Amino acid sequence: MINAIFEKVYKGSFKGFKKDIYNDIKNNNKRFIVTANPETFMIAKKDNDFLRLLLDKQTTIVADGIGIVKSGRKLGYNIEERIPGIDISLNLLKICNELKKDLYVFGSTEKVINLLRNVLNESYPHINLVGVSSGYVEDKDKVFKEIINLEPDIILVALGIPHQEKIIYRYLNKFHKGVFIGVGGSIDVLSGCKKRAPKLLIKLNLEWLYRIIKEPKRIKRFYQNNIKFMFSIKKEKEFEND
Ligand code: UDP
Repeated sequence: MINAIFEKVYKGSFKGFKKDIYNDIKNNNKRFIVTANPETFMIAKKDNDFLRLLLDKQTTIVADGIGIVKSGRKLGYNIEERIPGIDISLNLLKICNELKKDLYVFGSTEKVINLLRNVLNESYPHINLVGVSSGYVEDKDKVFKEIINLEPDIILVALGIPHQEKIIYRYLNKFHKGVFIGVGGSIDVLSGCKKRAPKLLIKLNLEWLYRIIKEPKRIKRFYQNNIKFMFSIKKEKEFEND
């Protein structure tokens, strides 16, 4: 299972990936991006529906964190570099602005969405925001069905893993175009509600540490997923060497 997911992880540079998504948006192609972390693998281990979604040929998986890049390399997958979800989202907003395309934002709180709306007005004036919805509505499927009718070019979904990926996947076939991505807590940074790690920490691949220090409640989730993931990689490696 681990190898099957790694097979699918995008191996090239962020520069190349940016070109791909630019062309997708320009040419009305459909793409579903999943940003992989150890938690992504650990959920897939227990949840068959999530695994199926990851392995679907319509899904593009990128290595969000350094742990995925390094573990992948250990198993023989030459992943060039990290492609963090937050940078993809920033790039999507840039392209959306440049090409004057349509955006939909689904998820997080009303407060965060309103802050994001201000950021969009100020820094991305040519984005056509066709709709927003808080992620705390009762019927999330109803929201997604409404998004289908709006035919946006970019759809950011912040409902947390795996819910955001599952709802995107559930309706993906109903869309003719659109770049879809589950952004999770990145929406807090996009909206200016939370600060991203200082550049130096990002460069040193320590962004994860900054997030834990700022939000200590993440420690348990981080620890459990990362330790389990490390063991799985070790096991896989031993299996290969046998
Ligand atoms: N969220 C939501 N509705 C829910 C549960 C979560 O809109 O029912 C949002 C929440 O506000 C946050 C995001 O989903 O913006 C989840 O972020 P988290 O920090 O868990 O994501 P991570 O980046 O760690 O994957």
